[in-house]
Amino acid sequence: MDYDAPIIDLKSDHYFMGEALRQATKAYEAQEVPVGAVIERNGRIIARAFNQVELLKDATAHAEMLAITQAEEAVGDWRLNDCTLYVTKEPCPMCAGAAVHVRFTRVVFGIGDPKAGAAGGALNLLQFPSLNHQCEISAGVREEECRLLLKTFFAEQRAARRDADPYADPNPLNSQNN
Ligand SMILES: [Zn+2]
Repeated sequence: MDYDAPIIDLKSDHYFMGEALRQATKAYEAQEVPVGAVIERNGRIIARAFNQVELLKDATAHAEMLAITQAEEAVGDWRLNDCTLYVTKEPCPMCAGAAVHVRFTRVVFGIGDPKAGAAGGALNLLQFPSLNHQCEISAGVREEECRLLLKTFFAEQRAARRDADPYADPNPLNSQNN
């Protein structure tokens, strides 16, 4: 983590994460793993997306990836170096890799993912020394709200599976990954 990052407008992080949470709620309502993302540029949101892996039957359809494509269209360039990504869950290696490719200034996330997160949780691709770009990281913004959505979602999934098959594997770790 970069503890020497410039002073951050916490109110504004709170606001933009709230918009990412609205996207995550849409994913929840669509029975997708509830992760949402928005991309901010000059104080405006230029992209909003939620996880759509099941709907699109596409393992790359994470909220961050969909939002990045939208933002590139909005800016008219693949370079998003004056943009900040807000996402409710710590990005996975695919999304963190994309964040480096588009050169986000900052990546802000809610709940960390110690098993698969690539923003300092399991590994840190956002600040990998030999890559040609590093992103500032702000972790834990509206963490409890982000956590609660995911927790509720997985608890409901487990309950539904138990109802369908009372002898199903009760191990919650078998279905936690996004
Ligand atoms: Zn991802």
